[in-house]
Amino acid sequence: MGKVLIIGAGGVGTVVAHKVAQNADVFTEIMLASRTKSKCDAIASDVKKRTGVNIKTAKVDADNVPELVALFKEFKPELVINVALPYQDLTIMDACLEAGVSYLDTANYEPKDEAKFEYSWQWAYQDRFKKAGLTAILGCGFDPGVTSVFTAYAAKHHFDELHYLDIVDCNAGDHGKAFATNFNPEINIREVTQKGKYWENGKWVITEPHEIHKPLTYPEIGSKESYLIYHEELESLVKNFPTLKRARFWMTFGQEYLTHLRVIQNIGMARIDEIDYNGCKIVPIQFLKAVLPDPGELGENYTGQTSIGCRIRGIKDGKERTYYVYNNCSHEAAYKETGAQGVSYTTGVPAMIGAMMFFKGKWRKPGVFNVEEFDPDPFMKQLNIQGLPWVELHDIDLEL
Ligand code: NDP
Repeated sequence: MGKVLIIGAGGVGTVVAHKVAQNADVFTEIMLASRTKSKCDAIASDVKKRTGVNIKTAKVDADNVPELVALFKEFKPELVINVALPYQDLTIMDACLEAGVSYLDTANYEPKDEAKFEYSWQWAYQDRFKKAGLTAILGCGFDPGVTSVFTAYAAKHHFDELHYLDIVDCNAGDHGKAFATNFNPEINIREVTQKGKYWENGKWVITEPHEIHKPLTYPEIGSKESYLIYHEELESLVKNFPTLKRARFWMTFGQEYLTHLRVIQNIGMARIDEIDYNGCKIVPIQFLKAVLPDPGELGENYTGQTSIGCRIRGIKDGKERTYYVYNNCSHEAAYKETGAQGVSYTTGVPAMIGAMMFFKGKWRKPGVFNVEEFDPDPFMKQLNIQGLPWVELHDIDLEL
């Protein structure tokens, strides 16, 4: 049915490559390209062993638009799945426009020199994608991604108006390391050390980092201290569901993780500006990434599970209702299937499903879209088939 190019050969790229190969009726030709070709070759060889499917590989610098355009023109994909880093979103979108290719990613654009992420840069491509007749699907991982589709599904089937949305993200896994991040350390540390932010009564409320926290109960896991942080899907969800009076995002962190994070910040290792070290320019957080465990390698001894979902309060037929929809994902099962841990799995599977929606014509229209703007039903159906089954609970105490 379709020719797909995956860019990025980290933990998430590994899962996307396995999952597209498992759906070879939809993805008839596959290429995996990244900065380090040997990583693509290793993934392609593992995919071949497990599924028998061939994946082509290539080297590309996704910061370089002409290099990307040359690769796109040579391979001629219909869709690019961008699972490199958020820094590359705009160059890949530029190359897509130049070569006539549609686009999908899992994280919104971030400039390298400022720890700031927002959709404005990518939403600015709306007219150009529309005019070119190309589709750009933004934020199609788990959060953003599945959490946004969960919200759209709730709005479509269970509520007349959404009033309160709390996205709850728990990783109750244990990788056995004193400190490691579950996805790219640089992006992860930039995200969790910034100020908290949530939407209330038509405006953003800013908090100090990790200032607001409370224990929340997660299914099959139990009670975990959960911290209010800012997360990118809140920006598009409050725009696309304007009846929301409040929208917040909660993430669990262990005490050990927070202590390490505080030390990293206090000693200046989270800095994103260049410093001079023995006549050599280095960015401390990039140096730190080089010495921390590679998130893609955490899978082998990872036990426990993740639990991510949406807790929603709103109105249906004039009555107040509550709704909780979530997925639990086992790190061990994810590793057994793809060789990657649960956080990479919960991001890579939805990216593949979004691409499948594109090739099946269900999520395909000219312009730039966040995932909640598409029909959630076929995507929700695939989550159950592709390894991320979901559970829904009605009229329960949401704790929030
Ligand atoms: P990794 O750091 O493990 O992998 C990133 C990959 O991108 C590496 O293979 C890297 O190459 C490649 N890359 C980096 N820069 C370039 C470049 N200039 N040109 C070509 N390739 C490049 O990250 P993850 O796999 O953990 O995460 C991938 C993406 O998924 C990130 O954008 C992250 O923010 C997003 N994410 C989204 C989530 C969601 O739920 N929505 C959750 C988790 C992650 P090299 O190997 O040479 O370093």
